[in-house]
Amino acid sequence: MILDSSHFLPYMQVKNDHFFIFLTMSNFYILLHLKGGLNVAIRGFHHCVAVLFDFRTAFAVYIEVIMKNRIKSLFGFAFVLVIGFTNCTKSEFLIEISNSHIKREYAEIPNLDGFLTLKGDFHIHTVFSDGEATPEERVDEAILDGLDIIAITDHIEYWVWVDEKFGKLRRDLGLPERSFSLNLSYEIAQRYVNKISSDLIVIRGAEIAPDDMNPEIGHFNVLFLDDVDKLRYTNFWNPTEAQKIRYKYSYMDALRAAKAQGAFILFNHPGHATDNVSRENDVLWNSEHEMLFEQGFIQGVELYGWGYFPMAHHYAIEKNLTLFGNTDIHDKMEVYKQLWWMDGWIGKQQHRPMTLVFARERSVEAIREALFERRTLVYLHQYLIGEEKYLKEIFEKSVEITLIKTENEVEIILKNYSNLSFNIRIDIGNLNYYFQPRYLLQPRETQTITHKINNVMDVDSVNFIIDNLINTPTDVFPTVNKGITYTLEF
Ligand SMILES: [Zn+2]
Ligand SMILES: [Zn+2]
Repeated sequence: MILDSSHFLPYMQVKNDHFFIFLTMSNFYILLHLKGGLNVAIRGFHHCVAVLFDFRTAFAVYIEVIMKNRIKSLFGFAFVLVIGFTNCTKSEFLIEISNSHIKREYAEIPNLDGFLTLKGDFHIHTVFSDGEATPEERVDEAILDGLDIIAITDHIEYWVWVDEKFGKLRRDLGLPERSFSLNLSYEIAQRYVNKISSDLIVIRGAEIAPDDMNPEIGHFNVLFLDDVDKLRYTNFWNPTEAQKIRYKYSYMDALRAAKAQGAFILFNHPGHATDNVSRENDVLWNSEHEMLFEQGFIQGVELYGWGYFPMAHHYAIEKNLTLFGNTDIHDKMEVYKQLWWMDGWIGKQQHRPMTLVFARERSVEAIREALFERRTLVYLHQYLIGEEKYLKEIFEKSVEITLIKTENEVEIILKNYSNLSFNIRIDIGNLNYYFQPRYLLQPRETQTITHKINNVMDVDSVNFIIDNLINTPTDVFPTVNKGITYTLEF
């Protein structure tokens, strides 16, 4: 398609302290934070991008003048277009129209038979509780990270108090410090998604974290709510002994109110449910959790939420819980990623932890159904964790394998169509573990492996052990001998 003004889709957003311009095109986008620290991201270098880039100072000055004079951002749009057209002729562009203002980054993961593979983060905080980003920023971050789904899960307890830091953040944003509707952060995010015509799905959720009254119970996310305000319950900072006794179980009111709305309930970061820091092998699951589980108040658990929890993985399998890998993000995403990259993981990758959801269609209802039916995988660094049948199908749909037998060797061609990478061991002719050849198959890579073997005619199949596809709990990463096995016959 040739560019004309109707296809040139700059998106501009003005906030308190910075300014973005997004140009969505087939082979590049620009993201400029012009005021309060220049932050330019460019995909696919192009003559026109370079020109726009050089004009960044002019943009900043001009836009500031516009804003000071309270002229609508329409003029800003016009200005971008003028600059664009002055420096680029129409024929220079092939444009792919996207309904999203930012190009999705990565994580091309194949769909399964009958199911779309959707990428989600079901644990996100905003300035409406103790997060440091606005709902709109959470949407932008999610789109940049290639997500299909986010759940806004602000704490419902924190509306009763005013913390200096978050109180200030709210004042700066012109928000009331207390007594606002608990639905507001979701509604702002959803309105913003509509405004920018993004196909990101936003789920109305909340986190119940009754730390003060019930430190031993931990935190729960409740998803797919109709009205978060109905979950308000009595919780105290520094409760008296009398209050402790009287209100001990009041968090149950919030859980009941969520369940009455048909919520999916998720047990969060089970390795540090108490005040202690992450204790990966000391996961909280006491008689109260058992009671909640029996009564249908827990359907899922975070295998990853500030740590991977092998013990939680054990009881998730035992109790058939839906598996999640979420960020529980409070910082801005760029800060989170810096912290996360440093947490000792090997093979760091440019994606945030995700929950892959296998949904019949791209809708809130279909996602809800998929979660209740436990159709998820955890996507963490290069690892996919969860049920073997989904891991196998993802591998099958990602990698095409061709086996060729010659007189004294076997040739294996591995062609990876996905953006996932795979650590593959090849078990052929009953080689023992230490002699199995190992390969790292990178995203979109093709590898041809030839393997000399004496009694080649006796070999009728090859086993592929994929070390980064994990369906059993593991105590260590990188994993040893935990990956699933995929067998292919000649
Ligand atoms: Zn929490
Ligand atoms: Zn949280």
